[in-house]
Amino acid sequence: MSKTCHKKGPQASIAANLLTLKKQLADGCKACGRDPADVKFLAVSKTVNDQRLQQALDLGVRRFGENRVQEAQAKWPPLRQKFPDIELHLIGPLQTNKVKQAVELFDVIETLDRPKLAAHLAKECARTGKYLPLLVQVNIGEEPQKAGISPHDAVNFARDAIEHHGLNVTGMMCIPPLEAPPAPYFALLTKLTREAGLQEISMGMSGDFTIAAQLGATTVRVGSGLFGAREEI
Ligand SMILES: *Cc1c(COP(=O)(O)O)cnc(C)c1O
Repeated sequence: MSKTCHKKGPQASIAANLLTLKKQLADGCKACGRDPADVKFLAVSKTVNDQRLQQALDLGVRRFGENRVQEAQAKWPPLRQKFPDIELHLIGPLQTNKVKQAVELFDVIETLDRPKLAAHLAKECARTGKYLPLLVQVNIGEEPQKAGISPHDAVNFARDAIEHHGLNVTGMMCIPPLEAPPAPYFALLTKLTREAGLQEISMGMSGDFTIAAQLGATTVRVGSGLFGAREEI
């Protein structure tokens, strides 16, 4: 196996990164008159090992995002024992055969991306009585290879999930096209979320979170900016 990862420094680097991120967010918010307290970081911890997770936890980070149910299942239950106030978000695709596991493990699922998944989640929430907050994933750039509800259907989909399925949909999330400036997509997600009467807006990653914050994000999902570059898997 050939590794092309950049070697990371010790604990100090996560601490320094966190300070830099907070400063960038504060500056970005100040520039547009937004209160930085209204924008929360989600530390994207996919592929991040226990030692580095522990460093982030020691620095007070409590909101984490994982994109694979199985990986999260292996990493988080022991850490939750030690840190009961961890808030764990699923930010990757959810197969219907993993719904049961996901509802048990996560506090928020940000990837409600199709009607069939809404039906399965409705059953599991009803069965367990755990109506965890859900975000509708919007395929904001209408890219054929990407998951998510079309922007044209997103508002109706969210309403239907709430009214017909009884789901606790609290907002929307998106991953804009890689190769285009993200601002118009961020603005569109904010518009759709407000149109649906919802509060939570999850958008922006390490490279563009200040723009997302300026355009209405309530959660920005930052991975490499906090933990350093990931090894490709
Ligand atoms: C990996 C990932 C992120 C974080 O990306 P970075 O560029 O490392 O900050 C955010 N959102 C989703 C859905 C991801 O899969």
